[in-house]
Amino acid sequence: MNTIYQDGREYDHLGMGQGAGDEIEFYFAQAGRGTSTLELACGTGRLTVSLAERGNRHQHSDWGKRGYGYTHGMAKYDYDIIILGGGSAGIVSGVMAGALGMRVLLIEKGKMGGECLNTGCVPSKALIHAARVAHTLRTAGECGLNSVPVSREDAAGVMAHVRATIKAVEGADATVKLLEDNGVEIRHGAAHFTNPHTLEMGGETLTGANFILATGSSPAPLDVPGLAEAGYLTNQTVFDLDAIPESLLVIGGGPNGVEMAQAFRRLGSHVTLVQNRERLLPRDDVALSSALAGILRREGIDIRFDARVTSVRVEDGRRVATVTQGDGDREVICDEILSTVGRVPNTGGLGLEAAGVKFDGKRVQTDAALRTTTSHIYAGGDLLGHDQFSHLAEYEAKLIVRNIVFPGTTRTDFHIDPWATFTDPEVAHLGLTEEEAKERGLAYEVYAQPFAQNDRAIVEGDAQGFVKILSSGLGGKILGVHILGPHAGELMHEWILAMQHGHSIRDVADLVHIYPTLSMASQHAAQRWYERKGQEPLAKAALGAYVKGIRPHQTALALGLAGAGLGLAWARRGNSRRDR
Ligand SMILES: Cc1cc2nc3c(=O)[nH]c(=O)nc-3n(C[C@H](O)[C@H](O)[C@H](O)COP(=O)(O)OP(=O)(O)OC[C@H]3O[C@@H](n4cnc5c(N)ncnc54)[C@H](O)[C@@H]3O)c2cc1C
Repeated sequence: MNTIYQDGREYDHLGMGQGAGDEIEFYFAQAGRGTSTLELACGTGRLTVSLAERGNRHQHSDWGKRGYGYTHGMAKYDYDIIILGGGSAGIVSGVMAGALGMRVLLIEKGKMGGECLNTGCVPSKALIHAARVAHTLRTAGECGLNSVPVSREDAAGVMAHVRATIKAVEGADATVKLLEDNGVEIRHGAAHFTNPHTLEMGGETLTGANFILATGSSPAPLDVPGLAEAGYLTNQTVFDLDAIPESLLVIGGGPNGVEMAQAFRRLGSHVTLVQNRERLLPRDDVALSSALAGILRREGIDIRFDARVTSVRVEDGRRVATVTQGDGDREVICDEILSTVGRVPNTGGLGLEAAGVKFDGKRVQTDAALRTTTSHIYAGGDLLGHDQFSHLAEYEAKLIVRNIVFPGTTRTDFHIDPWATFTDPEVAHLGLTEEEAKERGLAYEVYAQPFAQNDRAIVEGDAQGFVKILSSGLGGKILGVHILGPHAGELMHEWILAMQHGHSIRDVADLVHIYPTLSMASQHAAQRWYERKGQEPLAKAALGAYVKGIRPHQTALALGLAGAGLGLAWARRGNSRRDR
């Protein structure tokens, strides 16, 4: 084991780093204030690096191997890490870095908890839950109870409930306490870079060895004539409503648009949804998005595809939106308009130019280790402008802290990238969609199972949707899984685990699933793989021979031949094939 010495003395060890080379393995040193050099002793030699020149990172590629170290308590800077933004990404990185013993400052401009807690996930899911309760009351007759009609007026307390839920979650998460317990200092206000290591905040100068930009995103302004004058809602204002609007026009058919459209519809609003594409949830599998559109339409939502809101005016206190579709213009009169379209990264006022961080109107530029164009400044969460979800912000936050500790060692891997849309039924997404598999020219097979054949879904009167799996190769490699159904987001986790750890569709089929659960729909979809393989001519012949009592070694030979035959058949089958 190699040890770090400084001025010939051994220092406190905080952790262990490992270079990409072989024996380059070393401890972190607790370098006190005033430290200017650090000596790394490794199996192959000894190297003195200047902390003053290189900040907290030391590269000792001088030995012909790539290796890096990180020292805690860098003399030059006030903090090891300064985090800008106290949302999902900022909180998670703060807690993790604090727990590792780093000196961390988190600066939040608005409310702690960010979008997810205050204007995103939490209030939207609280509204969706209330809407589901209303729906359950209305449809209670389906299981022999008296149905209860729920009107918009009956839902008068729902928006207050949504706001109370934010407080409840805030209390339960106790984020500020968690951060403070891990030694993270929190300050409120706006800071901006004056140079790559320095922020100015309220006349005070704060320096950091590393920075994490986690300032999130905001709704993009919508450039529709008359809309700004008429006034419209976004996720930042919709949860401040005091009552359920009589009529609502939702612009956008992405996750937020469909979730809000269904929730307000169930709570008594007349809802029109305008989507400028030919389908809802364009990033999800097309089979699921068209099934969802049917469900939402049956619930009474007026969905316009390939349509745009082209102007808005106010008449008699109501908003009149012109919606342009292929066959002409139509007016939609409504009480409120909710835009769910587009996000812009929160980069304003950060002074990123002074820090050398490149960004545009859509994202902050990073490499796969989430380093910006200034290598000690990292960025994560919505600011990156790709899949904007809380769980990804958390994933990126952890990755950033790992990379600050072990620079450049962990790279983003978005090939799995799961998410869910919390409509009823939910839509959960993992890996490739069928459209993406086709675009990539992949050979794939589809296995599916409807919830209409799942006992639990039937007994609970919740049997809409299906599980759809894309797999490839003789081994049943999982390419993607898409679930439209009750609790689809929860059901996806066994697939995430399977895909992340390289398990096959067979592994899920073979796993014992508890009866009667919704998860059995996943197992049954996976079992289709066996059914199909069993129908392959050679496999059928071999199994037939085995059943007829042909000797084991002959059967083994037959099965071997069958396997080879399957391989040939597979190779011949060419591209895609459907099983639905
Ligand atoms: C309606 C809605 C529903 C959603 N539902 C879900 C869901 O169900 N599941 C899911 O995974 N995701 C959901 N999301 C997305 C999720 O909210 C975001 O992906 C997540 O909040 C991103 O986290 P973040 O830390 O990057 O940014 P944020 O949570 O936005 O946090 C950024 C923080 O930085 C602060 N800040 C901004 N500028 C500065 C500055 N200059 N200095 C200091 N601080 C600053 C902000 O005040 C904010 O607190 C939803 C989003 C919306 C809009």
